[in-house]
Amino acid sequence: MKLAPVRGKDSIHLGDSAASVSLHHDGSDALAEKTAKYTDRIGELQRVLYADGRFALLVVLQGRDASGKDGTVRKVFCAVNPQGCVVTSFKAPTELEKQHDFLWRVHVQVPPRGMIGVFNRSHYEDVLVPRVHKLIKKSDASARYAHINAFEEMLAANGVVILKFMLHVSRDEQKVRLQERLSDETKNWKFRADDLDDRKRWDAYTKAYRGVLEHTSTAHAPWYIVPADDKPTRDLLIARTIADAMEDMTLRYPPADPAVLALEIT
Ligand code: ADP
Repeated sequence: MKLAPVRGKDSIHLGDSAASVSLHHDGSDALAEKTAKYTDRIGELQRVLYADGRFALLVVLQGRDASGKDGTVRKVFCAVNPQGCVVTSFKAPTELEKQHDFLWRVHVQVPPRGMIGVFNRSHYEDVLVPRVHKLIKKSDASARYAHINAFEEMLAANGVVILKFMLHVSRDEQKVRLQERLSDETKNWKFRADDLDDRKRWDAYTKAYRGVLEHTSTAHAPWYIVPADDKPTRDLLIARTIADAMEDMTLRYPPADPAVLALEIT
C-alpha cells in the first residue's frame, strides 16, 4: 500500500475506519524490516541531497494531540545525519510572532537547499486553531489558504520539495494515548489540560482539517492522510512516501573538478 495525495473532496476520508488501517498482514517484523529499508534509504539520499545542493526537502506533520507527530520524527528520520536535518516544533505564537503576518515565523524555518526540514505543526495551525475557536471568519480562512498556496508555490519554485502529512488518529485511539499520558509517569509531562478542550472540539477540528485538505493540497505541495492508529503502519507509509519523493528528485553527487582530480597527494 502506498499513500495517495489528496485530490479534491472525494479523496478525503476522516472517519474511524480510515484511521485504523493496518498493514500487519505478514507480521510485525516484516513491517519493521520494510520500514528500515526506507528509513535507511532516506539516510543515504540525504547525503546526496546535501552534496547535490539543488533542493531542500520540507516535511510538514500535522495531526491532533497524541496523533504521533513526535514518534514519526523519531522513527522516520532515525538514519538521517543530524547535521543535515532541522526539526521545528511550532507552539502557540509569542507576542512578537503575533505582531507579524502568520508566515513570518514559518518562512525563516524553511530548510535551505541541501537540508531536510521537518515541521512538527506548522502554518496550518493558523487556519485550524482560529477557525475552530471562531476567531476568524470563513472568508479569512479562504484568504489564508490562498496565501499558503502562493507561499508554498514560491518555495517549490525555489527548489523546496514539500510533503505534507496529516496523521489521522481515531477518537478511541486518542483516548487510549491520552489516558496513557495520565497514568504513565514517563509520559505525564506531555499531558496538557488544553488537550482535553481540543478533544471536546473533535468535530470542529475534523471540519477545519477537511477545509485545509480540500483547499491546500496542490501538485507542488501535496497532502497525504496517514492512517495513524497503528504506529508501525504509520511509519512505513510515511517513510516510503518520503523515500519515493527523494528518489524522484534524481539527486546526484556533483562531478569532481578535473583540476582537483589531477592533484597529487604527496
Ligand atoms: P505538541 O502538542 O505539538 O507536542 P504542545 O503540547 O506545546 O506541543 O502544543 C502546542 C500547542 O500550540 C497546540 O495546542 C497547538 O494548537 C498550538 N499552536 C501551534 N501553532 C499555533 C498557532 N499558529 N495558533 C494557535 N495555536 C497554535
